[in-house]
Amino acid sequence: MSNGFVYIDGKTPYYQSELFNKYGICHAFFTRKGGVSSGAFESLNFAEGVGEIKDSEENVMRNYEIAANLFGLHKDDVCRTYQTHTSRVEFADEEKRGVGTVKPKFEFGVDGLVTDVKNLLLSVRTADCVPVLLCDIDKKVCSAVHAGWRGTVGGITKNAVELMEKQGVKREKILVAIGPCIGKCCYEVGSELYDEFVSVKPEYTAFFTPNGDKFILDLNHANKTILIEAGIKEENISIAEICTKCNGDKFFSHRRNGTVRGTMSAFIHI
Ligand SMILES: [Zn+2]
Repeated sequence: MSNGFVYIDGKTPYYQSELFNKYGICHAFFTRKGGVSSGAFESLNFAEGVGEIKDSEENVMRNYEIAANLFGLHKDDVCRTYQTHTSRVEFADEEKRGVGTVKPKFEFGVDGLVTDVKNLLLSVRTADCVPVLLCDIDKKVCSAVHAGWRGTVGGITKNAVELMEKQGVKREKILVAIGPCIGKCCYEVGSELYDEFVSVKPEYTAFFTPNGDKFILDLNHANKTILIEAGIKEENISIAEICTKCNGDKFFSHRRNGTVRGTMSAFIHI
């Protein structure tokens, strides 16, 4: 339990936003527990990996089936981003059901998805980056976004809000849940990141704390601020504030484990 998030314990545990639960929004931020993968990928891993050792596609697909089953759905109902640290958000129509699981993946980088299709389960994957879920219960439109530092400074959450607006959603109605990610306790970065953020907006210095010749970047603060700039009400934003690097028993962390590690997934559907 942390800051408006609840931990749903069980064979395959997950975190939920209490704000989302209040409105009955179907979503979950999974941990690394409760899947079938082993070794560095133990156990609920959602990507084969890019390091020297890889997990099998079969394991990853079994993990997708486990996660989807908790929503009463199957891996065929999932639409999976193809994450390359872009700021690109795509609309997922019925044709996109099964993309990245039982259909070929996207052919270009897509780091965020928006849909209004019932029971189409959006999946974004992270291991320190920020998983952001958005939903409007009036128009029944939801979104899932992968926001690392590049996506954050590139305004990917703003792009998601704009695409939701194109589906008739009013910005002030959008509810947001920012899941577990690397915290300001652990995210030391170089001055090139500082320069990149500040070149977008001088006020973005507020996301950084100097630390010798480096900086500490607060990705939660950055994403919250950019969402508010995009017209989201502050009271409609819930933040887990749980650090993925500090809690190795529960989360995969790129900063802690490098490239040979698993990847978590957050899910949402209408
Ligand atoms: Zn930490």
